[in-house]
Amino acid sequence: MQKEVELVREKIRLACDRAGRDSETVLLLGVSKTKPYSALQEAYSYGIHDFGENKVQEIRQKYEMMLEDSLMKDCPPRFHMIGTLQKNKVKYLPGKVVLIHSVDSLPLSLEIEKEYAKKETTAKILLEVNVAKEESKSGFSLEELEAVVTELAKLPHVLVCGLMTVAPFTEDAEENRPVFRALREALLSLQKKFPALPLTELSMGMSGDYEVAVEEGATIVRVGSFIFGERVYL
Ligand SMILES: *Cc1c(COP(=O)(O)O)cnc(C)c1O
Repeated sequence: MQKEVELVREKIRLACDRAGRDSETVLLLGVSKTKPYSALQEAYSYGIHDFGENKVQEIRQKYEMMLEDSLMKDCPPRFHMIGTLQKNKVKYLPGKVVLIHSVDSLPLSLEIEKEYAKKETTAKILLEVNVAKEESKSGFSLEELEAVVTELAKLPHVLVCGLMTVAPFTEDAEENRPVFRALREALLSLQKKFPALPLTELSMGMSGDYEVAVEEGATIVRVGSFIFGERVYL
C-alpha cells in the first residue's frame, strides 16, 4: 500500500504542476469503505488522515475503533460520508464526520438541519451533482443548484461548503474532463451569487480519473481501490 499512496501523491503533485496549482490545496481522501480497520491503520501510517466511507454503520464501527486506537490518539483521523445517506441514519453522524459529501435532496438537507440542531452543532455539507444526468445516479442537476443553495442558506445548522460529483465510469479519464470542468464552473458561479457562504470545496476524481480532476480544480480527490485494492462485496 505504501507504494500506491506515494504514487498517488506524486501524480497529484504532477497534475498540480501542470495546472499551476499548489499541491497543498488538494486533500487525498482514502476511500476505505468495505475495508477492515487494519487497512485504515496502514494507510494512516503512510500519512492518510482522511477516510471516506459510504455506510453509516461502518462509520460508527470504525469511529469507535479509532477512539480506542492509541496510535491515532494524538492526531485522530477524520471521517467523510460519501455514500447515499438515508434520512433515518442522519442522527448518527453529528460529531463523527467532518464533511457529508453526498447531500442529494432538499428533504435530506432538512433532516440534517433537524438532527444537527438537536446536537447544537453545524453540519458541513457538499451538494452531490449528477453532472452527466445519468439515470443510475442521484444528485442535483446543475440547473437547480442556485435555487437549492438559496434554500439551504436559510438553515442555521447546515453549511454548504461546495460541490461533489461521481463522474461516469469510463476507461478514458479524459472523457470526464468536461464533467469536472462543468462542476468547477458551477462552483464559481455559486461563489459569485453567495459570497457569504464558504463555497471552497470541489470533491471530484476517483482512482480512474483523479489526475484529470486535479487539473480541473478538485480540492478533494476520493481514491479507493487504487490504494486499498479491489473491493469485495459479499
Ligand atoms: C467508492 C467510491 C469512491 C472510490 O472509488 P475508487 O474507484 O475505488 O477509487 C469514490 N467516491 C465515491 C462516492 C465512492 O462511492
